[in-house]
Amino acid sequence: MDDTLIIYNTLTRKKEVFKPINSPYVGMYVCGPTVYGDAHLGHARPAITFDLVYRYLSHLGYKVRYVRNITDVGHLEHDADEGEDKIAKKARIEQKEPMEIVQYYLNRYHKNMEALNVLPPSIEPHASGHIIEQIAFVQQIMDAGYAYESEGSVYFDVEKYNKKYHYGKLSGRNIDDILESTRELDGQSEKRRSVDFALWKKAAPEHIMHWPSPWSEGFPGWHMECSAMGTKYLGEEFDIHGGGMDLVFPHHECEIAQSTAALGKETVHYWMHNNMITINGQKMGKSLGNFITLDEFFTGNHPLLTQPFAPMTVRFFILQAHYRSTVDFSSEALQASEKGLLRLLEGYERLKNIQPAAQSTVDTKGLRQRCEEAMCDDLNSPIVISHLFDALKSVNIISDGKATISKEDLSELQSTFKLFIEDILGLLTQREDSSSLQAYKGAVDLLLNIRMEAKARKDWETSDKIRNQLTALGFDIKDKKEGFEWNLN
Ligand code: ZN
Repeated sequence: MDDTLIIYNTLTRKKEVFKPINSPYVGMYVCGPTVYGDAHLGHARPAITFDLVYRYLSHLGYKVRYVRNITDVGHLEHDADEGEDKIAKKARIEQKEPMEIVQYYLNRYHKNMEALNVLPPSIEPHASGHIIEQIAFVQQIMDAGYAYESEGSVYFDVEKYNKKYHYGKLSGRNIDDILESTRELDGQSEKRRSVDFALWKKAAPEHIMHWPSPWSEGFPGWHMECSAMGTKYLGEEFDIHGGGMDLVFPHHECEIAQSTAALGKETVHYWMHNNMITINGQKMGKSLGNFITLDEFFTGNHPLLTQPFAPMTVRFFILQAHYRSTVDFSSEALQASEKGLLRLLEGYERLKNIQPAAQSTVDTKGLRQRCEEAMCDDLNSPIVISHLFDALKSVNIISDGKATISKEDLSELQSTFKLFIEDILGLLTQREDSSSLQAYKGAVDLLLNIRMEAKARKDWETSDKIRNQLTALGFDIKDKKEGFEWNLN
């Protein structure tokens, strides 16, 4: 087992050597979507980030149990302990059963994930299917003395917990800072202190999703599902917990407090968080009008988009940044990714068609090792991509007949490209999965065929016009004995 994988642990704020509790088995839990609307870029990034983690761990030989939950109850508006349940609200407005809303958006989410070539997790548990486990977990926290009941609801006693453990260790806050920012709620709440958070909420009469419990007819607090389902499927201690950086506080901070209070120990060994996506430099938000769903990207049907973008372009765009860096989305940036991906996949196609020679006259060695090193350094996908582009220079020289490659070197190069492009980066190379790329390629071929016909009838004006204008757009066109060849510079 390769044990040189280094990952950045949000909890310790350090890069650490990844050592699973029970190698070769790895438990990984990632916070999944709250399914009350169509998936957008904010859903694509964690899904693709942890798909990369999943694929790479599997490549290293680990047997990964990947749990990604579905939040279908308890996620209240404004992420606070107050407000209407997001799913119940949608159900009320659309006059549907809450589970109809969940099923509808979950089906659409799965379709989007499949288009992005995100592998399905090993287990996809629903919060609403684990009410019994959540009630038992709340009881465990109460038995340990870190929770109290108030008017049918149960709250976590943050101050008491903080006397023994450190509340705020993940987000780097201390309880006084948090108290400062939440003080205004004091006196208006059934909570003892504003910093306390709900483990169980008594349902108001108009609340449609509720279950019986020892305390009231009600529903679990949002943070509870991840503590209960994570430990149910991965054990009291497991390796990786992931999610978007926006979940660090309060969601993951509360999850650490819940699990530590109930079990008396740290549950998660490595916390991993992907950074956020901005659109044209702004935070994404419904009120800002820059909330672009994945379907809108795939169809181009949004005022901020100049064209449709294939799912693989979106995936490639996300992988071109390190997962801990911010990414700014714009049509121009996506167009650049589309061109880059096309160049990469065309180079890969050329590589597949190269014929070996007796010996290599160009050095192509070491690509696999360089890519492995980049991945082992906290999953540095942009560096992997740049190594692949570097290697394409040799591929093009060989493909143009200016150098040769031995059978052994060729098969190593081909298998390295396959491994990283298809298996690890998860980029689909089939044309039907990147329809816009196919259309693009077809259109260029069509223009060049028209140019061939023009040349055949000595219509130099048309022939030169097509050649010059394509060259001006960045295409490199080569006339061959039979037909033509083109590339994008
Ligand atoms: Zn969660």
